[in-house]
Amino acid sequence: MAVHAHPDDESSKGAATMARYADEGHEVLVVTLTGGERGSILNPAMDTPGVLERIDEIRREEMAEAARALGVRQHWLGYVDSGLPEGDPLPPLPEGSFALVPLEESTEALVRVIREFRPHVMTTYDENGGYPHPDHIRCHEVSMAAFAAAGDPERFPDAGEPWTPLKIYYDHGFTLGRLEAFAAEYAKLGEPFPLQEWYDRMREYRSGRPDGLSRVTTRVECAKYFPQRDDALRAHATQIDPNGVFFAIPMEMQQRLWPTEEFELAQSRVPTTLPETDLFAGIEDEIQ
Ligand SMILES: [Zn+2]
Repeated sequence: MAVHAHPDDESSKGAATMARYADEGHEVLVVTLTGGERGSILNPAMDTPGVLERIDEIRREEMAEAARALGVRQHWLGYVDSGLPEGDPLPPLPEGSFALVPLEESTEALVRVIREFRPHVMTTYDENGGYPHPDHIRCHEVSMAAFAAAGDPERFPDAGEPWTPLKIYYDHGFTLGRLEAFAAEYAKLGEPFPLQEWYDRMREYRSGRPDGLSRVTTRVECAKYFPQRDDALRAHATQIDPNGVFFAIPMEMQQRLWPTEEFELAQSRVPTTLPETDLFAGIEDEIQ
């Protein structure tokens, strides 16, 4: 079970890993906490009259298409996107938005889905949200609270039969290390690096802070599934520019230089040995 804040997050974080596990016969469920109603239109080709008016509906269609591309199921938890507040000081979050919903309430909603779907493994974001969006930070909080509560019969007794998920991971896909590997390759080729701007921003953000890569415990080989990940990204047509950063590095180069997606094992209820190459490591023995 992969818990994500907005529709499209599942396609940019751990998507090829999910496609791989689905292909290998695991049941994979994406839980999307909000409807992404406050996302702006980030693909100039989709910024046409009428699109913004039916953005809710369009994002649902996009999400369904992305789930099909990855071969996974998807469930909406039904909360409203908090939007990314901008300005100094930051404006208050809009009333009724997900990040303002009491944690007990959203945790119960996620516990209900966990008890129904009964996942062995969950993924979510780290305590910084991976990206400082209030819904991403809340996604971390809700996922961790639900991971702790789902197996406890005393907690949320009306939310179904207790079920104890065994492992929970943080996504660490957007690392400086990965960009460095591509930058070095372009330098070697003597060609301009198409992600230079992103790379510069990332270097600035990371200066004095450890890179996500330093927290990675688990690297999942999934290069074969990068084309499916890209199809899923393209399905989010209002959010993702097909001429943008996600598609700037040739597929062959990505598969050769960086064939994995990265995760950090945040909590485990089964013994496992780090580093791992499989999110299900240690689980097979446990459930046989
Ligand atoms: Zn998001």
